[in-house]
Amino acid sequence: MSSKISAIKGMNDILPDTSAQWEWLEEKVRRVMSRFAYRNIRTPIVESTHLFVRGLGDVTDIVEKEMYSFEDKMNGDALTLRPENTAGVVRAAIEHNLLYDAPRRLYYMGPMFRHERPQRGRYRQFHQIGAEALGFGGAEMDAEMILLADALWRDLGLTQGTDYRLEIGSLGQSAERKEHRAALIAYFEAHLDQLDAEATRRLHTNPLRILDTKNPAMQSLVEAAPRLMDYLGDASMAHFKNVGQILDANGIAYTINPRLVRGMDYYNLTVFEFVTPHLGAQGTICGGGRYDDLMAQMGGKAAPAVGWALGVERVLELLKELNLQAPAAAPDAYAVIPDWQNVPRAMAVVQVLRRAGLAIQMQASTPQPDGVATMPSFKAQFKRADASGAKCALIFGADELAGNSVAVKLLRTSASGDQQQTYSLNDLAKLAKALQSN
Ligand code: ATP
Ligand code: MG
Repeated sequence: MSSKISAIKGMNDILPDTSAQWEWLEEKVRRVMSRFAYRNIRTPIVESTHLFVRGLGDVTDIVEKEMYSFEDKMNGDALTLRPENTAGVVRAAIEHNLLYDAPRRLYYMGPMFRHERPQRGRYRQFHQIGAEALGFGGAEMDAEMILLADALWRDLGLTQGTDYRLEIGSLGQSAERKEHRAALIAYFEAHLDQLDAEATRRLHTNPLRILDTKNPAMQSLVEAAPRLMDYLGDASMAHFKNVGQILDANGIAYTINPRLVRGMDYYNLTVFEFVTPHLGAQGTICGGGRYDDLMAQMGGKAAPAVGWALGVERVLELLKELNLQAPAAAPDAYAVIPDWQNVPRAMAVVQVLRRAGLAIQMQASTPQPDGVATMPSFKAQFKRADASGAKCALIFGADELAGNSVAVKLLRTSASGDQQQTYSLNDLAKLAKALQSN
């Protein structure tokens, strides 16, 4: 026997029982996106490594230690499996001149890759659903983004306050961040002995990143550090207040977190996170903010933008935790065919019913060494029919077919009495209607 090949560590198979939940979530997302007039965009999962280095910033966790980067051996190109998708969407918008006549509201869903330590809610291939509004600078669009995510949480059955809460902050503009940066460096320099190796290294390259440290020993130091929000000028504060006003008018509760630091360098002004108390350390289910300088930084015409991304695995984990499960998928009917010689006729009927929109699972034959097609026993077929979760069995028995009919037996009713009824194959529309109303 040859040795077994397993999936890559931190990269999960999503099997049918689970994927039903994924499809249910994706459907809810599509509906909410369409209500807010966001349109789908699909970009490649592999991009040029430069895209992320330039877009996300070279002194970020993602670029420094989490990217799956490799050389295309055919031509020497430096490539990377996308760790996030804002950079890719911005690249595509520039490349296809998407903003030439109007701003764009876009959304995407798909796998992302980060070489992190796998644990609950943290995987190496994970999935994000993201929304990006390109070419919009007003505070109402920061609020729209938050309302969009909030609408999704509500559609999924989550309750604000108990299941999730919103934190917002502002990173101001680059001049304000520069002033804060100087204060931050001075502060950390006065406490050099308390910095870990990573923080020491980042002190003069990207001190803001130190605030995002997960090192428990540095938390109190970080808590007392100068706050960026105290360095904001009037215009930045006005923008922030306007976002809050719209959230207030919509009954969206939030807490202002002056220390909210996001993982990428491209953010400015509003940043926000949706956090749940139910998932332990991996409690951030969605994060986003404004990135007004990224378009120009990536070589496009300057255009303001705002967006967010949610972690699908974390959201599904949260829904599971709260028992908010999609209804189990089951066919409307299960076709029971006792003799193989009746399979062709039965299949022709089943096809007509499927065309009418019914979901029908058909019994398959048991492979025989002599090649003779054989159906399992009547009893075995009923067992399968029951296990499929179908509401009824369609019985293509020899007697029924001889009378040009089929029997429909209800499987999910405990009521005694007439649970089996015969329908003529001359009127399949009537049969379809009966199955639909079961
Ligand atoms: P964290 O602080 O948890 O590492 P992040 O700031 O790196 O998150 P973002 O880059 O903002 O995360 O990505 C948006 C969302 O994607 C996160 O809020 C989270 O729900 C999800 N996410 C990020 N990294 C992973 C991962 N490795 N596995 C699963 N989900 C992830
Ligand atoms: Mg991270």
